[in-house]
Amino acid sequence: MRMVGLTGGIGSGKSTVSNLFKSHGIPVVDADVVARDVLKKGTGGWKKVVAAFGPDILLPDGEVDRPKLGRIVFSDPEKRQLLNRLLAPYISSGILKEVLKLWLKGCKIIVLDVPLLFEAKMDKWTKPIVVVWVDPETQLKRLMARDGTTEDDAASRINAQMSLDLKRTKADFVIDNTGSLAELNEEFQKVLLQVTKPLTWTEFALSR
Ligand code: ATP
Repeated sequence: MRMVGLTGGIGSGKSTVSNLFKSHGIPVVDADVVARDVLKKGTGGWKKVVAAFGPDILLPDGEVDRPKLGRIVFSDPEKRQLLNRLLAPYISSGILKEVLKLWLKGCKIIVLDVPLLFEAKMDKWTKPIVVVWVDPETQLKRLMARDGTTEDDAASRINAQMSLDLKRTKADFVIDNTGSLAELNEEFQKVLLQVTKPLTWTEFALSR
């Protein structure tokens, strides 16, 4: 089974590209969905987070107050690292569980949509790697429009991540999403052809 890695920066267009893969019948494992599941009340991840951050980060119904936790970790890099460290093992095993389900169904190609593919060192699991890139100005504008946030807030969330220019150097394929949605679709079609192309024996041998 081929596991294609899909990544990019906040607001660069990963979800939009992920939907294009799905509309072409290619299943996508979404790390954000897994990350939400591992924080659900009563799970192992939830217990670790409550133990580390205290019951103040809980809502009255016992679920984690995600916006509050987000504000805490975005303003403090050490706390952000702590949260990443606590949840990383649950997220990787959750992703592997989803991959296994698709493998058992006989899927030949799947996409792993992981915003922190490089940071979490999951790039080793995937080949090829597709990075959705956008220029910094457009990224900022789209993020502000989508989330209704201020320029400062959007910029600090972008700056908290590995730069998109660095990510693009680690990609096998770069999708430039600076243009319109129609242009994105054109870029996507080219990459789709490449990632679904059968590997030759030589490429297979050299890909690991
Ligand atoms: P996140 O990591 O924050 O989940 P993302 O990388 O998944 O972000 P998207 O949600 O796909 O990014 O895109 C960010 C915003 O930009 C969305 O509102 C989306 O509709 C819009 N968008 C994406 N691509 C384009 C485009 N080519 N033209 C105009 N708007 C776009």
